[in-house]
Amino acid sequence: MYTRIDGKEVSASVRNAITEKVNDLKAKGVTPGLAVIIVGNDPASRVYVNNKKKGCEQTGMNSFEYALPEETTTEELISLIEKLNGEKDVHGILCQLPVPKHIDEEKVLNTISPDKDVDAFHPVNCGKVMTGDYTFAPCTPAGMVEMLKYYNIPVAGKHCVIIGRSNIVGKPMAMLMLKENATVTVCHSRTENLAEITKQADILVAAVGRPKFVTADMVKDGAVVLDVGINRMEDGKLCGDVDFDAVCEKTSYITPVPGGVGPMTITMLLKNTLAAAENTF
Ligand code: NDP
Repeated sequence: MYTRIDGKEVSASVRNAITEKVNDLKAKGVTPGLAVIIVGNDPASRVYVNNKKKGCEQTGMNSFEYALPEETTTEELISLIEKLNGEKDVHGILCQLPVPKHIDEEKVLNTISPDKDVDAFHPVNCGKVMTGDYTFAPCTPAGMVEMLKYYNIPVAGKHCVIIGRSNIVGKPMAMLMLKENATVTVCHSRTENLAEITKQADILVAAVGRPKFVTADMVKDGAVVLDVGINRMEDGKLCGDVDFDAVCEKTSYITPVPGGVGPMTITMLLKNTLAAAENTF
């Protein structure tokens, strides 16, 4: 028998705690505020931005949307961010990715003040995650750690295998799991004998971006499996990186897609925005 980790339940519990703290801050005269920048008309980005705004509303924070046209230049975007860096009511700034191809994404992200970088993408914040002493935890990995804690899943001393080494998921997840005293292995597309390694995992994190990539023969009996993948199938349905139906019976805990890791990411963004506002005291 396995337990299906319910990302919506964990997310609701974290959001309740955030709401209480937002109310405390409001009583002191500060309302946490998140500026959300969206450039162009990508429908998926629009959905994410709307959900981020909804999350702010739900927890009592302010959100400020800046919807810019597709033809916005790097310089125009940078000058907006510089303005927001100086605004007192804006505690967090995020630029929804991807930005149109003509925009220099790295330059844009590096313009966000590290003190307002609630996505934790700025090199200063990446460095802090590396040292383990940070204000802003990278949202998707932090959401996974939160889920493990909610279900009282032991991490210290366990072998955590992460498939994927991206800067937003795989690498920061490795850092957070090290901070939790796991023994960490990071795999990627050049890893040899992948299944031999994943079969050693007490906690297996799949952040590959390939539907049903993790099959039953890659999973140890009783493992905890966290599926980060969000793959849109031809029928419009979402599918994770793990072949859920084939793998679930081998696991002790597993996250579904949708309804697993996904709901946690925006919640952790809200948590970071709260932290940014608390930091102004
Ligand atoms: P990236 O494409 O940036 O990284 C994918 C990683 O998987 C790379 O490190 C790549 O290796 C590795 N990989 C690819 N093929 C293989 C293979 N055959 N064997 C082993 N490793 C392989 O993706 P992201 O990390 O940004 O995202 C991963 C997934 O998570 C996507 O589906 C994305 O949509 C989803 N996602 C979900 C979020 C959420 O909120 N739930 C947030 C962010 C992402 P290499 O480095 O060698 O190329």
